[in-house]
Amino acid sequence: MKNIVILGSNFAGFTAAMQLVKRLKGKRKEYKVIVVSPSHDFLYVPSLIWVPFGRRKIEDIRFDLREIFRKNNIEFIEAPAERVDPDINTVYLPEGETLTYEYLVVATGVKMNFDVVDGLKPEDNKIQNIVIPKLAMKTREAFENLVKDPGPVVVGATQGASCMGAAYEYLFNMDKELRRRGVRKQVKLYWITPEPYLGNFGIDGMPGGEKMLKMFMKLYNIEWITDASIEKIEDNKITLKTGEVLPYKMAMLMPPFEGADVMKASPKLVDAKGFVEVSGTYQHLKYKNVFAAGLAVKVAPPFEIVNTPFGVPKTGYPSDVTGKIVAGNIANLIKGKTKLVSKEWGRIPALCVMDAGHKEIYLIANHLFKPRQFAVLLPNIFNDLGKVFLEKYFIWKNRHGYAWLP
Ligand SMILES: Cc1cc2nc3c(=O)[nH]c(=O)nc-3n(C[C@H](O)[C@H](O)[C@H](O)COP(=O)(O)OP(=O)(O)OC[C@H]3O[C@@H](n4cnc5c(N)ncnc54)[C@H](O)[C@@H]3O)c2cc1C
Repeated sequence: MKNIVILGSNFAGFTAAMQLVKRLKGKRKEYKVIVVSPSHDFLYVPSLIWVPFGRRKIEDIRFDLREIFRKNNIEFIEAPAERVDPDINTVYLPEGETLTYEYLVVATGVKMNFDVVDGLKPEDNKIQNIVIPKLAMKTREAFENLVKDPGPVVVGATQGASCMGAAYEYLFNMDKELRRRGVRKQVKLYWITPEPYLGNFGIDGMPGGEKMLKMFMKLYNIEWITDASIEKIEDNKITLKTGEVLPYKMAMLMPPFEGADVMKASPKLVDAKGFVEVSGTYQHLKYKNVFAAGLAVKVAPPFEIVNTPFGVPKTGYPSDVTGKIVAGNIANLIKGKTKLVSKEWGRIPALCVMDAGHKEIYLIANHLFKPRQFAVLLPNIFNDLGKVFLEKYFIWKNRHGYAWLP
């Protein structure tokens, strides 16, 4: 029996595992699919933006994967992989355990880099964060304290960040919730971003995006600073490299991302930041039996960054798509086919909903990166039901093991 080992079990890893099972029918006696992940929970990460405002609890946006894996004859090892040696096709697990593979899929997501500015670390107790459940819950507490004792709020992303879209969503939800709780007038709200212009999103913008975001900022009375680089974070004040000082009672900043620890400990496979270097087939440039999907993939910005550094966002849809491409390509190789599906990250369509508080914006384009032949921003000014629908649909399809659905 040969092993196909998948590291990670969320958007990219879970999709790859389920798709492999589907694509490898008839070959399952020869190949065992093994998923290694530190958690048996699937987490619908995009809804973490609602946790600080009490609109979602963590239990609402997670489910247990073990039964689905069992039903599909996927072995699940609940442990963090420690490193990979691709020269001997081996994954190292805790307590000296090892696992060898015929094919490896890296879908280990990211780790936050808090070292980009002093004072950003969660243990510094200055800046809030919504990237992982534990910190989103802490942000919930900070928000309740703010409502009791309102003051200035800073929301945004540090230099080097790439996930600005989620920070925009949190900003507009913050505004909406402060209004609902009757304290918005006592809160001066600032938005700071490394983007050169509002709505760049790390994908060089969308038609009409900058104009629309400026309109929202003015409508909701939010002050904004683009091309912002943070010099230092102190108790109650953030100093920018321009010398501008922003007071805050509560602040949430999106940090830059790097590859997960396991990949940083596997230097033969990754770049200096721990991202896996792959071709358009999502196959490692040197080790052809190693694939990567989702956030773990190295994606270079397709444009020149002139001033403050920022990165390319790697959202849920391309993470799902790359999980499927990887599974299809491994199945093809096993079946003796040499022609693999190739679709570079920037050529994947853009399909995303951005929650803007009372409103939402649909981002639709035939390619994530320019040149695009089709790109529109469609505002839904009446409610944010599209984002809710996506959440329900995604959790439903994965909970039932229908990962092959779009
Ligand atoms: C707050 C927030 C809001 C977002 N909102 C949106 C949105 O509205 N729309 C959108 O499209 N995208 C959004 N995204 C991005 C989206 O969440 C990601 O694209 C998606 O989670 C990427 O999936 P992934 O499987 O690559 O990584 P992840 O979802 O991060 O999963 C990584 C997996 O690797 C596992 N892992 C970690 N370390 C190890 C190890 N050592 N060994 C084995 N496994 C390991 C983890 O347990 C997990 O299972 C948002 C992201 C954030 C942070």
